[in-house]
Amino acid sequence: MFRFAVFPRPCYLALVLALASVPGLSQNASPAAQPAAPELRVFDPSLIDNSVDPCENFYRFSCNGWFKRNPLPPDQTSYGRFTELHELNRLQLKQILEQAAVPGAARTANEQKIGDEYASCMDTATVNKLGIAPLEPELDRIDALKSAAELPALLAHLHTIGVNAFFGMGASQDFADASSMISEYGAGGLGLPERDYYFRPDAKSVEQRRQYVEHVRRMFVLAGEPEPQAARDAETVMAMETRLAKASLTITEERDPQNLNHPTDVAGLSRELTHFSLADYVTADRAPAVGKANSEQPKFMAEFNALVADTPIDRVRTYLRWHLLHAYATTSMPESFETETWSFYAHTLNGAEKQQERWKRCTSRVDRELGEALGQVYVARYFPPSAKQRALEMTLTIEQTMAKDIDTLDWMSAETKARAKDKLHTVMNKIGYPDKWRDYSKLEIVRGDALGNQMRVREFDHARNLAKIGKPVDKGEWYMSPPTVNAYYEPQQNNVNFPAGYFQPPFFSDKEDDAANYGDMGSTIGHELTHGFDDEGRQFDKDGNLKDWWTKEDERKFTERADCMVKQYDAIEAVPGVHLNGKLTLGENLADLGGLWLAWLAWEEKAQAAHLDMAAKMDGYTPDQRFWVAYAQQWCTQTRPEQLRTQAQTNPHAPDEYRTNSVLQDLPEFAKSFSCKKTAAMVSAKPCRVW
Ligand SMILES: [Zn+2]
Repeated sequence: MFRFAVFPRPCYLALVLALASVPGLSQNASPAAQPAAPELRVFDPSLIDNSVDPCENFYRFSCNGWFKRNPLPPDQTSYGRFTELHELNRLQLKQILEQAAVPGAARTANEQKIGDEYASCMDTATVNKLGIAPLEPELDRIDALKSAAELPALLAHLHTIGVNAFFGMGASQDFADASSMISEYGAGGLGLPERDYYFRPDAKSVEQRRQYVEHVRRMFVLAGEPEPQAARDAETVMAMETRLAKASLTITEERDPQNLNHPTDVAGLSRELTHFSLADYVTADRAPAVGKANSEQPKFMAEFNALVADTPIDRVRTYLRWHLLHAYATTSMPESFETETWSFYAHTLNGAEKQQERWKRCTSRVDRELGEALGQVYVARYFPPSAKQRALEMTLTIEQTMAKDIDTLDWMSAETKARAKDKLHTVMNKIGYPDKWRDYSKLEIVRGDALGNQMRVREFDHARNLAKIGKPVDKGEWYMSPPTVNAYYEPQQNNVNFPAGYFQPPFFSDKEDDAANYGDMGSTIGHELTHGFDDEGRQFDKDGNLKDWWTKEDERKFTERADCMVKQYDAIEAVPGVHLNGKLTLGENLADLGGLWLAWLAWEEKAQAAHLDMAAKMDGYTPDQRFWVAYAQQWCTQTRPEQLRTQAQTNPHAPDEYRTNSVLQDLPEFAKSFSCKKTAAMVSAKPCRVW
């Protein structure tokens, strides 16, 4: 939800993107030899399993047919309708990239970049032949580190090339004044997914830590270290990361913006870092040496400072060497490195059985690195202005519904309602793609230099990010590429963002009726809007400032209602021994419930205005039943138990089964549509409701 200095983390709709940032973890693919896929539909009666009682398990009722038709492919950690569409989009991107990869004078500057980057990535012979040589200058730089006094300049350089060592630094919106960009320093430097991985006492977690140390050891061996030293070095990495993790906030604590708001200035932070010259760091990083700053996690920075003072320099070198290898063990490095990384992050932690094909990894890479150069071609081919217009209309309709819904809330005072509506009316709707495309002209992409390209991309991104400091915020910027199948709300900018890649079947279709489209895409639009009013989003005002606009009494009532949902999700055991974390998932759960409710209200109003016959069946279902099925079918997903465990422990989104059933249990309107008895599993005795 927040844009961290180096890791943008807005409120995504789906899990897909959240995992894409894990090196080596690629999760979306369809079986290699798949027959021609059936046409994707928003409401698809052929997926329904009539042997399941919709009042007992609506998710199974709506999705069992899809599960039968879509066995989990071996190269997937999860496979759902988001991945289904993602794969189709990726095939289109592949076509664009293959055309752009053909050398010739006819290519535009951007086509040269995306084409040559794709060709370099696909050229495994060259990548394997070069081996670790392209990374040698960076390894030498680390070897040359002789004292803690030299660390600031070296660390700054490593940060410019995308190495996540120790802390993160970049531009961020000022919590107190969302219109301006300031320096931000945040916690970082871990190789496991998040801090609790270092401390959970259960047997499975202990085993994962052992496997992580093994992984680090094998990476050192691949990089040429002799065996006993590699084993010692892996233990060093684990010890140093554990110390950093101990001083880091939990991911649940990170969800509260107040925990991250520690305004200072560069000089103030510099005084606190008594063993690390921030002046040397910012000089080498070309970051501002003065001006406002936010230190997201002061406790972490203090521990980093202490660590620099008392850690022998050879241990610091070992730690940096690991993070350099980790950062580049991608398609840029010989396949042995990439496979080793996949083996730990995708296989061990998330259960994948097979690595994705190279073209998929390379297509995703170009989408990540040059998303707006590739996206510009994608939009021209696949996202006509009419699609943008339809998406905008639907968004405006849901916004109008939300304003009416706020008026009807019985627990909120008139004063807070007026401010809430003010915030709602200020939401900026960003649909499809940026108004102004990113300028890549200063980025050099050289054919045949996969690792060099990746390094230049990261330097380009880092410089682009730092250049924002001291300037007004650019609300037109996007944090997802146009072909992405996902959406987000950005609380510090109060805008909703719906990439072009999402507005297609099975989420939205011209050929289907409002019941289907509102149940599916309508609920998503409602979801993103509700994020502006969830437990995090509600702390920001209409301009994106972290500023309380609630009366004390309304805040108390909000929290009381939200606590109902915390308890509801805390009670769910996602995999044996692992419960969902009600506080971690609260924002998403609030958005799911609020979003679906808004979609329902908007659709009902449309249906009434059109005098829709609510008893008329289509494909055997009434319009309201089709609305709920369309909602449920967007979440049909197969997930490996390993990933389900990872997701339950680390992801702010509840697993898709609960995003369906738990939300519907709270809506009596759903139970009415299917005539469910009060005692049915899909009917909550005490439904939660906030928005
Ligand atoms: Zn969300």
